[in-house]
Amino acid sequence: MIVRCRYSFGALVLSLCSLATHTFAQATSEVPPKDIRVTLLGTASGPRAFVDKAGISTLVEAGGERLLFDAGRGSMQRLVQAGFPMNAVTKLFLTHLHSDHVIGVPDLMLSPWSAAPERKVPLEIWGPVGTRDMMRHLEEAFAFDIHMRRDVDESFSPEGIKTLAHDIRPGKVYEKNGVTVTAFLVSHGLVKPLYGYRVDYAGRSVALSGDTSPNDNLIAVCKGVDVLIHEAIDVEVLRRLVPAKSRMDAIVARVTRWECHAESRTSLA
Ligand SMILES: [Zn+2]
Repeated sequence: MIVRCRYSFGALVLSLCSLATHTFAQATSEVPPKDIRVTLLGTASGPRAFVDKAGISTLVEAGGERLLFDAGRGSMQRLVQAGFPMNAVTKLFLTHLHSDHVIGVPDLMLSPWSAAPERKVPLEIWGPVGTRDMMRHLEEAFAFDIHMRRDVDESFSPEGIKTLAHDIRPGKVYEKNGVTVTAFLVSHGLVKPLYGYRVDYAGRSVALSGDTSPNDNLIAVCKGVDVLIHEAIDVEVLRRLVPAKSRMDAIVARVTRWECHAESRTSLA
């Protein structure tokens, strides 16, 4: 299992087993057979912009698959910085629709389509209820650019600007080339639904918590994984950044412990 990152882990905590760390600037190479490579493209959570950290985004490579989880601010730049062509990713999984996890989606949707090497296949997206609507509205919002570049003068691929969006439910949401992705419910206070994801390949596994508090479902689904990428929050630092008490209380409520009811439990079967 290989995990690499560019800057400090910021808002993420890694629970690791059999870990090899690589510097982010290292040239991108083929992932060894039967292995999973995880690249932390961005680890900064929240709407605040940082000059030295990108927003939440994690690339998981396995079995020839490149799967992106969340697309926070600057995820496209970080992908290129990591040595990938802009069109390297065509599969995106969203934990939830808070802006700091999706603000990079239009960039991922539009830029690789209209810059060499062009994306000529649709961008496929899995996420909570509302994902399909979001993508439909994004296509409407960028209708001018899409029309001009596709239909008027530059003739970019009609297939490449399509998006295939899925509003998912808990359970297995993706399976190809021996790679499976399982979505499971986690807790983010009143922000529902919110999914964590577990990727399994050739006996290896990595899980991403999404924004969450400690909860039974996360513990059960992630038991025995090789790598857990988990959100962390420093409440005291947050208090200095969020002076309004009512807003602070709302954020803290998202990180208090959640008891999982039977109907919310996720099975890996
Ligand atoms: Zn959130």
